[in-house]
Amino acid sequence: MKVYIWADMEGVAGVADWDDPVTDTYFNAETRSRMRELFTGEINAAVKGALAAGAQTVLVRDAHGFANNLSVEELHPEAPAILGRKGLPNPWPDLDETVSAAVIIGAHPMAGTPHGILPHTSYEVNGRRMGDAGLFAAVCGSYDVPVAAASGDHAAVDQLSALMPGPRVAPVKHAYYPYAIRTLQPFKARHLIKSAVEDGLRNLPSAPVLRLDRPYKVKFHAGEGEGDDLASVVLNLLKARGAPYGSQDVEPERSIYLRRLRAAQRAADRDYPE
Ligand SMILES: [Zn+2]
Repeated sequence: MKVYIWADMEGVAGVADWDDPVTDTYFNAETRSRMRELFTGEINAAVKGALAAGAQTVLVRDAHGFANNLSVEELHPEAPAILGRKGLPNPWPDLDETVSAAVIIGAHPMAGTPHGILPHTSYEVNGRRMGDAGLFAAVCGSYDVPVAAASGDHAAVDQLSALMPGPRVAPVKHAYYPYAIRTLQPFKARHLIKSAVEDGLRNLPSAPVLRLDRPYKVKFHAGEGEGDDLASVVLNLLKARGAPYGSQDVEPERSIYLRRLRAAQRAADRDYPE
C-alpha cells in the first residue's frame, strides 16, 4: 500500500493565524518555528497511522505556502518529504494511479466560510465549489485514488465530507472567527489523527473517491480551463497566474507567495471585518 499525505498548515491544532515567513521579527521567527513543529507533529501522527495500517510507502507533500515548512529533521524516518514548488511539473508530484490512498492533514475551509480558520481560495470543478483540500481530493479522484482520512478545523472537514461522504475525519479545532480558535491540545489532536488515518486505511474499500466527469471544467479567480487531465488543467491556470511550476524563469517565488498571502489576508479581512 502506497499512501500520499497532503499537508497544509492552517488547519493544524494550535494554529490561529497566518504564518509570515518574510517579516524579520523575533515574534514571527518564534511563531513560525512553533507552527512548523505543530505541523510536523500532525504529519508524523498520520505517518504512524499509515504504517500501523500496513502502508509500505508513505509520501508527504508539504502543500503550504512555499511548500517548504515541515521540519525534515523531525519528520518520521519512513516518510520522504516532497518540498518546494519552483520547477516542479505540478503541485502534486508522484500523485498518480499507483497511489493506493490519500490522506489530508491541516485542511482549511474555502474562501467565504463563516466560522472557519483562515478561509481562502475556492475553485469550481464541474460546477462544484471546493477549496484547496477539495481540489487535491478531486485530483486524487482523477487518478481513482480514494481519500481515506482528513484532518483540519471543523469547517474544513465538514466541507470535505460534503464533497465526498465517508472519509474518516479528525477535526482538531473550532474557529469562532478566521483568527480565533478553540483547539485541541496537540497530543490529543495527533492521537485523533493517527486513529483516523489507521482506521480509514484499514477500511479502504469504504473510503470515498471524488470522481467527476471528464472533461474537467475548472473555474478559479485567475481564469478558467477545460481538459481531460485535471492536474494539467489546474497547472495551466496556476501558471497563467505566475505560479513557479515547470520553469526556472519566473518571478521569484517569495514575492508570489507574499502577494498571495496579502490577497488572502485582505479577502479574510473584508469578509470578516473586526
Ligand atoms: Zn496553507
